[in-house]
Amino acid sequence: MPLQTDDVAMKPETTFRPANEPAADAHAHAHVRRGPSARLPTEHGDFTISSYFDRSTGIEHMAIHCGELVGAREVLVRVHSECLTGDIFGSLRCDCGPQLRLALQRISAAGRGVVIYMRGHEGRGIGIDEKLRAYTLQDQGLDTVEANLALGHAPDSRRFEAAAEILQDLGVASVSLMSNNPIKLLALQQQGLEVVQREPHEIDANPENAAYLATKREKMGHLLALSSSPASSPASRSRR
Ligand SMILES: [Zn+2]
Repeated sequence: MPLQTDDVAMKPETTFRPANEPAADAHAHAHVRRGPSARLPTEHGDFTISSYFDRSTGIEHMAIHCGELVGAREVLVRVHSECLTGDIFGSLRCDCGPQLRLALQRISAAGRGVVIYMRGHEGRGIGIDEKLRAYTLQDQGLDTVEANLALGHAPDSRRFEAAAEILQDLGVASVSLMSNNPIKLLALQQQGLEVVQREPHEIDANPENAAYLATKREKMGHLLALSSSPASSPASRSRR
């Protein structure tokens, strides 16, 4: 059944709200304002999807969540940066699509957790058009950091204040963050969110993205094993 986005948009704030959640106007934050929520059954499990309007960018982020979150500790969380090419078209240039699906699967298996889908984060914040230009530069030999710099951008211009506020709005008490990026963990902590631990969230490399993943490890501090050894596979690693 397709998601009836038009139906949701016509009845903002009123279509669906879990019984134990306060009214939306009780949730005013500096960066985000809670919008409507709806039930979202997926091939990975049953979730609730909640919209959050980002005042600083004028764009909506999505929280896809399940289980009781209010006051919950060590909640499995993935803060996922939008990647149209990877998430939707199955691009092999990055690891975004498989990371997103793995996060939904892990949360569904745990029975509780949140994926925050950060829109406006294409190409680590440079936008989809600039990301395509960066891809062409990468095909000419630059790595992902060099390409962003050549186009006049910072290597990473994403901001995560909205993500922290969304988690606080959902009532999450502390987080177990599925990420290979220590910077993302620090960014959430700087917003006053308690991040108890980092859960490695690694996808096996393919020939198209091996250099990209190596650059993330060598130049951007990502904690990646970059092998297909059993020890590095999330599926085989023991879970808490
Ligand atoms: Zn991607």
